[in-house]
Amino acid sequence: MRIFITLDYELYFGDRTGSVEKCITGPTEMLTEMAERQGIKICHFVDIGFLLRLENEMIKHPHLEKDHTLLCSQLQKLQNNGHDLQLHIHPHWEDSFYNGDEWICKVDRYKLSDFSDNEIREIIFRYKNRLAQFNPQITAFRAGGWCIQPFERLAQPLFDAGIRIDSSVFANGYFESAQYNYDFRGAPLKSRWRFQTDPLIENEEGAFTEIAISSIHNSPLFYWRLFLLGRLNPYEHKPLGDGIPIPAPGQRFNLLTRWTHNTVSIDGLQCKSSEEILPATFTY
Ligand SMILES: [Zn+2]
Repeated sequence: MRIFITLDYELYFGDRTGSVEKCITGPTEMLTEMAERQGIKICHFVDIGFLLRLENEMIKHPHLEKDHTLLCSQLQKLQNNGHDLQLHIHPHWEDSFYNGDEWICKVDRYKLSDFSDNEIREIIFRYKNRLAQFNPQITAFRAGGWCIQPFERLAQPLFDAGIRIDSSVFANGYFESAQYNYDFRGAPLKSRWRFQTDPLIENEEGAFTEIAISSIHNSPLFYWRLFLLGRLNPYEHKPLGDGIPIPAPGQRFNLLTRWTHNTVSIDGLQCKSSEEILPATFTY
């Protein structure tokens, strides 16, 4: 059995992005220290679009250089210490900006598929090339917000950029809102498979390998417990960081009223169930 621990290296994208230190570099430092004590290496899916936008906005707002230094030195350190840095694309940074005081996330074009074919290719190459300055071997991709569908228009540019692995799919996950749109019902119930133009259709000759994110089927009780613990002991059960996520209308209601599929995560209450999860989901 091989287990890959993957973390998305990013801010929040809602009304408040939160700070680089509290949402990215601080938690990453804590988690990698814990992992290194056990000899574990982590794969970080880096939201490199944010770094590029930061480099742009720094010209007008020099005080952002501090965040830039924090990010670049941490990414270099992760790379030097043998952790993996791979490509995570949140293309809404193309439309988002810094107003002198805070980041304003414009999420009308949240998914790569919201862009034209030429823009998709240009974004993939520009983001990949920047990340390759830290890790010259970029071969894996995770779509922002797991929104990898429809994949047809992404396949050729990703392939041309050297991507051979995707890790965006989790079994039976689905969600649709103004920004999000993914439906993984019908994905192979396996931990990895080959595919060509549709990540849900196994194709042994396919150019890409899906290494699926492990999925867990949670009862509403799990979320009621999480919700109540959060109320009773917010310090121990609040999410990391100081940002606010993009609103996901109806999602809390769904989680609290029906069985739902979600990604397996190493944080909070979920790690308590990891002993049941691991043998069932990670079989290579
Ligand atoms: Zn992300």
